[in-house]
Amino acid sequence: MTPLILIVEDEIPLVTLLRYNLEREGFRVAEAHDGEEALLAVKEETPELILLDWMLPHLSGLEVCRQLRRHNGVRDVPIIMLTARGEEADKLRGLDSGADDYITKPFSPAELIARIRAVLRRAQPAVASEILQFEDLIMDLAAHRVRRGAREVRLGPTEFRLLRHLLRSPGRVYSREQLLDAVWGRDIYVEPRTVDVHIRRLRKALNADSEPDLIRTVRAAGYALDRPNVVARA
Ligand code: CA
Repeated sequence: MTPLILIVEDEIPLVTLLRYNLEREGFRVAEAHDGEEALLAVKEETPELILLDWMLPHLSGLEVCRQLRRHNGVRDVPIIMLTARGEEADKLRGLDSGADDYITKPFSPAELIARIRAVLRRAQPAVASEILQFEDLIMDLAAHRVRRGAREVRLGPTEFRLLRHLLRSPGRVYSREQLLDAVWGRDIYVEPRTVDVHIRRLRKALNADSEPDLIRTVRAAGYALDRPNVVARA
């Protein structure tokens, strides 16, 4: 199950940036632009974590935090407050009102992702696991190592990111464009055919001992990580 993160922030460009970076890391994202929307959003689907801006129109972040904490089902959801520089006293009040952590703007996406993983790890050890596994394939994100059975698989940086992305949702078919967005980023122009080149390298590395092929090519659609002979077994 992919963790859902609710962003509560009225600054739309920041929401867009956060969404992009979180989705790229494999999280699902919901957004709310003020406190009332946030209270509605948590009723629709309980998120695994909430990023809550301090300065919101109508209800302040602090008040939203208190109200969320009164909600059944949301009481235990970790909250990270987003605050502006120089609000030290406010941060402490934020923690008093039930926030788990806070991060000061401006922050780098990498810093935020690290905080999110740390908070999730404390809240739900399984969600933030840095080991991805599928069939006999094990990917240790923290150690940056990949094994297939007992064999160590050596991957270039692009193949590593490509495999990480596929491993987060085995069975799901990704188009070349989706893989380009996720692995190369939206701001870089790369030919869709480049994806084929890197898939070929990834396959070669994964199947070096002629193991069953775990990557499925879906004609005219894209690629998926899948069990070999999945049709025959079904
Ligand atoms: Ca704001």
